Amino acid sequence: MVREPVFQSDDDNDGGPPFDVPTSAGFPPDDARHDEELRPQRLDDVVGQRRVVERLRIILDATIKRDEPLSHLLLDGPPGLGKTTLATVLPKELGVELQITSGPSLSAPKDLLPYLTNASERSVLFIDEIHRMPASVEEFIYPAMEDFRVDITLGEGLNARTINMKLQPFTVIGATTRSGMLTAPLRDRFVNREHLEFYEHEELMEILTRNADKLKTELSQEAAAELARRSRGTPRKANNLLRWARDYATSRGDGKITDKLAEEALEMRGVDIRGLEGQDRKYLTVLSSVFTGGPAGLNAIAHTMNIPPDTLEDEVEPYLLQCGLIQRTPRGRVLTDDGLKHISG
Ligand code: ADP
Repeated sequence: MVREPVFQSDDDNDGGPPFDVPTSAGFPPDDARHDEELRPQRLDDVVGQRRVVERLRIILDATIKRDEPLSHLLLDGPPGLGKTTLATVLPKELGVELQITSGPSLSAPKDLLPYLTNASERSVLFIDEIHRMPASVEEFIYPAMEDFRVDITLGEGLNARTINMKLQPFTVIGATTRSGMLTAPLRDRFVNREHLEFYEHEELMEILTRNADKLKTELSQEAAAELARRSRGTPRKANNLLRWARDYATSRGDGKITDKLAEEALEMRGVDIRGLEGQDRKYLTVLSSVFTGGPAGLNAIAHTMNIPPDTLEDEVEPYLLQCGLIQRTPRGRVLTDDGLKHISG
């Protein structure tokens, strides 16, 4: 997912300088370039998220039995947990077409119009980062989602007239890392909403084992366990660490990822025992030393680290919160005792 260095936050925004794109210990930040190769193709291949998948199966089954389009679906959760995966698997299960776009690339209704008019009957339109769609596009999509029509205004002033255009019945699947930033009217138009959680250790091990097979790489059980432990509950991270360990094992060994090579690879990449990397540890250190443990506002921390607040809020904080290393309070972020121990230990 490409992140733009923009301010979009709820606290102390003082419109500071633009940010450098962050890197972690000299490594590129996790990116989605390689996702396609390892992405599950069917719902049966999706590991974990058991409750969500069960509910989606019910919805799919009912949709097929009633011979209707799938109802609109909103997926939310931190990056790399499988929102795009589910959005691409569902149309495959239904045998319908899929179009993909994202909130930031829809700057005006005219950008959305071709997707709506191209949408074939029962097809799926996936809108990633839907919380970043501007208000004008949001208003334009309401009648499309509700009544399968768009209202197009032609001309200006006295000569202006509105044309109603009928669309094929279709489905919007929206994905967001910030469901809280969605307006209530947009959120309400999604009949189904699912929240994705971080993955359990065994689930990550299974993903790693399957993907090592796909990459035709030998991965020992101990190495899989080590990679899973340091994947921050996130399949995309697990895949990235697997690729790195594979490169390392190819360069330093015979290509087989043994527990020893996996450990060396993780060490070299600067991934610690909890899966934290340079940027995460810097966050904790800044909160501890510059802000004496907090409370500190997100933007103040972001400025000190020279990283966009969006990146911190989406990619760094969720896992630190999940591990109990920081807390979010009404007055700002606070370092916990565990957080302090982690950086001092
Ligand atoms: P998001 O859209 O939430 O940022 P993606 O769906 O792009 O995340 O997931 C990133 C990668 O992680 C996928 O390409 C896939 O290889 C892997 N992945 C995500 N969820 C799962 C899952 N439930 N089972 C197996 N692999 C998964």
